Amino acid sequence: MVEFKEAKMYYENDADLNFLSGRTIAILGYGSQGHAHALNLRDSGAKVIVAQRPGGDNYKKAVEDGWNPVNVAEAVKQADWVHILLPDEMQKKVWDEDIKPNIKKGITLSFSHGFNIRYKRILPTPDLDVIMIAPKGPGHLVRRQYEEGKGVPCLIAIEQNASGKAKELSLAYAKAIGGTRGGVLETTFTEETETDLFGEQSVLCGGVVELINSGFETLVAAGYQPEIAYFECCHEMKLIVDLIFEGGIAKMNYSISDTAEYGEYVTGKRIITDETRAEMKKVLSDIQSGKFADSWVKENENGRTEFKKCREEVAARLIEKIGAKLRSKMAWTKK
Ligand code: NDP
Ligand code: MG
Repeated sequence: MVEFKEAKMYYENDADLNFLSGRTIAILGYGSQGHAHALNLRDSGAKVIVAQRPGGDNYKKAVEDGWNPVNVAEAVKQADWVHILLPDEMQKKVWDEDIKPNIKKGITLSFSHGFNIRYKRILPTPDLDVIMIAPKGPGHLVRRQYEEGKGVPCLIAIEQNASGKAKELSLAYAKAIGGTRGGVLETTFTEETETDLFGEQSVLCGGVVELINSGFETLVAAGYQPEIAYFECCHEMKLIVDLIFEGGIAKMNYSISDTAEYGEYVTGKRIITDETRAEMKKVLSDIQSGKFADSWVKENENGRTEFKKCREEVAARLIEKIGAKLRSKMAWTKK
């Protein structure tokens, strides 16, 4: 077992909403996170302005939600606090063109992901507080849970503490969006960025998608019906992960048969081998060195050709066709 120190957790009583009063908070972007932060902050009594470019669904939604959306430069000029909720790969451009020239001296600049600070794409001046409040869940849940009296846990981080109050400000914001109901813990921009990228690449998105599809294709290639392969390797994934989410591996092992549990012990390490673990280390090194970030930035500069190709390849897989057919009969899988 690796030794570890328990993290300090912050809850409702550790945060004071008064640190937000008298400040106009500009939320830049009204997408997944943006709409949730703006609405939760407003419901918590904060003064908010929303920056959202016109033309798309997010603009319509902002208007429907009662905002008077302005452009980024306008919002930044008025703000005593700027929270950037634009796509990570767009933030540098918008920073250079619209935020940096308009941001007031000595205010708070905040993020929900550390990418642009960690990889030095945005270099804020030293007069600014630079902090992170990062919900550990999708934006739509940040809103829904807040409305239900619950809250998505958040990470906070402090990169620059010009005001000397960066921690109090981070906690107040986290409280206003519901984070302290679920629990808040402090990290750094580096730790948040590197663990987030590693998790999505190795486990949550990259790892899971390839694991599901490799299992599916192995069964189909061996002559089994693709519908059965889909149920086994994809549909059941959620049922299993739900048990782990509720009560750890122990609850899953309690629920599955002893045969399945024996298979787990003898076969799991044949699938995730020493070679896989060595590759995970390399993936982490590429994240730490900035190699992955550079390649993603270049990919965007080159019009996302590789990205689009991969997206098409994955969408064209047999598992997607079979899955769509089977899910269309399961009304409860629809939102
Ligand atoms: P979305 O893609 O959902 O929303 C992005 C917003 O930015 C939209 O309102 C979009 O407007 C606007 N936008 C895009 N490009 C520009 C531009 N060039 N100029 C002005 N506005 C622009 O982003 P997310 O909410 O997913 O992500 C925002 C931040 O939150 C990121 O830092 C991300 O890492 C972080 N985060 C996201 C999570 C999530 O749940 N998705 C979880 C935790 C953190 P339009 O609709 O017109 O395109
Ligand atoms: Mg993540």
